[in-house]
Formats: sequence, structure tokens, C-alpha cells
Amino acid sequence: MALIVHKYGGTSMGSTDRIRNVAKRVAKWARAGHQMVVVPSAMSGETNRLLALAKELAPAKETESYSRELDMLAATGEQASSALLAIALQAEGLESVSYAGWQVPIRTNSAYTKARIESIEDTKVRADLEAGRVVIVTGFQGLDELGNITTLGRGGSDTSAVAVAAAMKADECLIYTDVDGVYTTDPRVVPEARRLKTVSFEEMLEMASMGSKVLQIRSVEFAGKYRVKLRVLSSFTPWDIDINEEAASGTLITFEEDEHMEQAIVSGIAFSRDEAKISVLGVPDKPGIAYQILGAVADANIEVDVIIQNISKDGKTDFSFTVNRGDYAKTVDLLKEEVLPKLGAQEVVGDTKICKVSIVGIGMRSHVGVASKMFRVLSEEGINIQMISTSEIKTSVVIDEKYMELAVRALHKAFELEQAPA
Ligand code: ADP
Ligand code: ASP
Ligand code: MG
Repeated sequence: MALIVHKYGGTSMGSTDRIRNVAKRVAKWARAGHQMVVVPSAMSGETNRLLALAKELAPAKETESYSRELDMLAATGEQASSALLAIALQAEGLESVSYAGWQVPIRTNSAYTKARIESIEDTKVRADLEAGRVVIVTGFQGLDELGNITTLGRGGSDTSAVAVAAAMKADECLIYTDVDGVYTTDPRVVPEARRLKTVSFEEMLEMASMGSKVLQIRSVEFAGKYRVKLRVLSSFTPWDIDINEEAASGTLITFEEDEHMEQAIVSGIAFSRDEAKISVLGVPDKPGIAYQILGAVADANIEVDVIIQNISKDGKTDFSFTVNRGDYAKTVDLLKEEVLPKLGAQEVVGDTKICKVSIVGIGMRSHVGVASKMFRVLSEEGINIQMISTSEIKTSVVIDEKYMELAVRALHKAFELEQAPA
């Protein structure tokens, strides 16, 4: 008997028929003798619907009081889907109980709309499992120190599931979604994309942080930190397929490099439209400039990604960086109001019509020329590179948003990702 955590995404929970299907699948696992904890997302479209209602009443604001209510609101989506799944399981003849994050409780910090999990109390869940119940725990949410409901950022149910699996020392965490695993790139953009049977933890971390939304990045971080056995697989297979076949399907995230059977140099291509570029022009070139600009941005809880400082001319330089598109307006305001006057810089300009495309692969460590091949492919397509950033196992470029799909397809082809490596 094993303790297994299943996570079902929004599309998988998208209708009562689909929830029934999930219940039948979970029942199959429970009847095979496993203790089951299930973490559902809200039904597809529900989180967007709720957040849009808030916007109808008042435009999105960065205030703590507004964000608190957004979390209070959005958390209801998962509360509803969890209760519906518990009801569907009971209809299948299983004992089942659902808990909202605050009931478990899953404790988080107070960073509303992007809270981080700090601890999970597992006593109640364990007692239910011992009593033979299937336990449903809402994805996406928790409780802060002051008793407020928090949410974990979009796509956060993945993180809830992996964190629950880590806290309970589950034998495996299975992420059921609307694709049958992790692909070389988003199969919706490149139909020739190939499913990876395994992907190393480090590659998955880069792919998630570079924009592959198949797993929320924090879920991958948790899996790495606590060595959670993690698999991504389809919720759209018939629920009654052989359980062993199901358990071996999809993509396994591996931790040992020698387990990494597919020795490709580039394993995948990630992309993100969710980016904006900001440049501070005419900055006096002296020590402390990067700190003055980026320190202020970091203090405002805004994450900065690619950074470029140009060489200076006449003692002045330009300083550019990217932020999440949602943080663009806030960052520009902050720079104009607080940083520019102190710096004596000339101007802040920005561009929200950019995207980031990244090639990822642990094989890049031991191969030179991978980045230059990427640059060549883009130049052959006439795509101008605005910024570049590299790490040991990835190269990212910032380009005009309108070339994103072209770039991804051209790179996928050039690196022959549609074929399994020899
Ligand atoms: P869920 O609702 O189950 O959490 P998501 O929409 O968050 O599902 O994530 C699954 C989606 O991620 C897929 O439908 C696919 O379009 C997208 N995706 C992006 N990159 C990849 C990739 N490399 N492999 C598989 N899917 C990817
Ligand atoms: N329902 C939340 C969202 O849409 C969390 C999730 O689905 O993982 O972002
Ligand atoms: Mg998701």
C-alpha cells in the first residue's frame, strides 16, 4: 500500500462529467489499496471568471486590502471543485472528505496572490486516511499567520499538490493534466513536439521558470527540495485503463543525471509572452547604479529577469531589464517617481510587446556552440535579438513578440527535437 497524491488541473475538472471521470479514476487507485490524497484545481475558466468580476467592480489595484479580497474570492473556485469531487467519490461508493487550505491548514506567508507555503499540518488528513477515506485538499490556497486566506499564484495547484506530497512523505505525486506529459515544447504551438519519457529536475526547473506552464515553477522547486517523485500524465485516458500502465505513462521528473536516458543537447524550448522590457536611459555611470535601480524594484517585491547594462559613453549608460508584464506599469511608475529623480537619469522607456524564448538542456554543459546555433537560426529567420541571458543549461533571448511562434518552430526544427535522440 502506498500513499499517493493526485492533482487534477482545471480542464480535467471542467464539467460534472469530467469530475465523475476523475472520481472513477481515483476510486480505481483507492480500490487497488492505496491511500489517496487528491488536489483539484478550480473548474476551467472559474478563476478567470471570478477575477474578472472583481475587475468589473474596481480596476485591479496593488493594495494589500484589494489583494486580500482577490484571494478570498479566487479560493472559492477550488473549494467548489473539491466539494464536487468528494460528492462524486461518495457516489462511487467511497468515503471521502474535502478540506479547504485553511482547514488543513496549509500555512503560507501573507504575500496575497503569490503566497508561499511555509508548513502543512498533516494530522487531520492522516487520521482520515487511516479511517479509510479519500481526502481532497483544495489546490492553490492556504492560510496566513493572521488567519487570512491566501492564494499561491496562477497555476498554484501544482505547488499545493507537491507540497502536500512532500509534507506527507507520499510515495508519488501524479500531476494529471490535459496533455499526456512534458513535451519538447508546448504541443499547442508546435504540433511536432515530442513527449519526453523523462526530464531531469534541473531541466524541468528551467523550463518552468522560462515559461512552460505545464508545471508551476514552485512545484518543481518543492519536488527538488524534498525529492518528491513527480510525474506528469493525462487525465483524458479512459479511467479504467490498467493501473500499472497508467502509473508508468506520461513524463517522470528524474533526479539522477545518469537516469536521464535521452541524452539530447537541447531537451526543450520554453517561451513566455508574459514579459516586458524597461530601459533607464542616460544613467550616470558610477558605482551603485544597478543597486539603486534594482534594489528599489526588489523592495517593491517585483522580480527582475534578464538584465543588460550597456557600455558607457560620455559617462552615461543605459540600463535595461525585463519584468513580468503584470508588474510593468508598477515598475515604470516606481522608477519615474522614486528612482529617476535621485539618479539624475534622463528617461524611462519600456516595451510590452516582447517575449522570451529559451532553449534548455543539461547537455549544453558539455557542448559548445549551442547558443551560437540558436543565434544563427534566429538570424536566418530575420529575427532581431534584443537581449540575451545564459546559464549553464539554458540560453534565453528576448525578441519581438510577433516572432515568438516562428522562433519556437524554427528552433524546434533546427535542434531536431521532433526526433528522439540516438
Ligand atoms: P492544468 O489546468 O492541468 O494545470 P495547464 O494549462 O496549467 O494545465 O498546463 C498544461 C498546458 O501546458 C498544456 O495544455 C500545454 O499547452 C502547456 N504546455 C506548455 N509547455 C508545455 C510543454 N513543454 N509540455 C507540455 N505542455 C506544455
Ligand atoms: N485555479 C488556479 C488558476 O487558475 C490554480 C490552478 O489551476 O492551478 O490559476
Ligand atoms: Mg496548471
